[in-house]
Amino acid sequence: MTEERSLDGRVIKSYGNRFIVSTAEGMFDCTMRGKFRLSEAKESSPVVVGDRVTISIDEPPNAVISLVHERTNKLSRPDVLKSDWEQILVANCDQLVVVASVTRPKLKLGTIDRFLVAGEAAGLACAVALTKIDLAKPGSYDRTVEVYRSAGYSIIPTCAVDGRGIEELRGLVSDKTSIFSGHSGVGKSSLLNALEPGLGLRTKIVSEATNRGQHTTTHIELHPLSIGGFIADTPGIRSIGLWKVTTEDMPNLYPEFRPFLGQCRFHNCLHAGEPNCRVKQAVDEGAITPERYETYLRIRSTLDED
Ligand code: GDP
Ligand code: ZN
Repeated sequence: MTEERSLDGRVIKSYGNRFIVSTAEGMFDCTMRGKFRLSEAKESSPVVVGDRVTISIDEPPNAVISLVHERTNKLSRPDVLKSDWEQILVANCDQLVVVASVTRPKLKLGTIDRFLVAGEAAGLACAVALTKIDLAKPGSYDRTVEVYRSAGYSIIPTCAVDGRGIEELRGLVSDKTSIFSGHSGVGKSSLLNALEPGLGLRTKIVSEATNRGQHTTTHIELHPLSIGGFIADTPGIRSIGLWKVTTEDMPNLYPEFRPFLGQCRFHNCLHAGEPNCRVKQAVDEGAITPERYETYLRIRSTLDED
């Protein structure tokens, strides 16, 4: 009989009551110790994709998850069957990369900003990848790049056809867990394939299964990268958490607004046309771009009042 030993790893996939754990020694198919099932918290599962865990191995490749390390963050939604329970979709993600095409379909800052607001609300670092720059006229997306850089975001113009921007994107994602999100057709799969052959296809299979509405069997998977790190397949805006955002949260979810908050005439200023608004003044002075201010007003008008 072999000696039982322990190894640390990352849960990359779950099915039924089993988990695939990626470790320095490869993948292990794990069950969990029974005691985890008796959770005080109203969570659908005590072990979720993205968890950092310690596993005990007796007969490889079979192992048991013996410890779940504390989560740094999580993306959740209400459990489909028990709505006062929390279903964690994925834990311990480092960043959200919003994917948007410069054309076909046409670039819409409001769409990018909805994803960014959701990512900020979930406590994720955020960045933008622009795709299909081979189809755009030179200079046509320069202003977009400037808008996001001035808001403090990394934005990388890329082309899956000629490889422009792909090295920079590798630098952004290596050794991190990144969620790639964007509407279908923007070139997300092509971009992921350019990043690593086969990756786009793998994530597409999972997200298409998810889109078919089998909510209770929906699982996010982490796809390991050869350059280190993981890519999570693409949850929609709702999954990232925009449905929980209120109008009151909004100003803080625009990072470039933060230096000016608390300086308006009215302490409860909504920065939506009130007199002596410091945020609007920052727009007029050029510290906040009119493009971002406009999406702020537009997105907030679609949210629930708090
Ligand atoms: P997804 O739905 O976001 O995963 O998008 P796909 O990767 O399937 O791409 C949608 C369409 O855009 C396909 O016809 C791709 O061939 C095309 N496409 C994707 N990236 C590029 C690019 O960088 N340049 C050009 N010209 N076409 C692209
Ligand atoms: Zn204000």
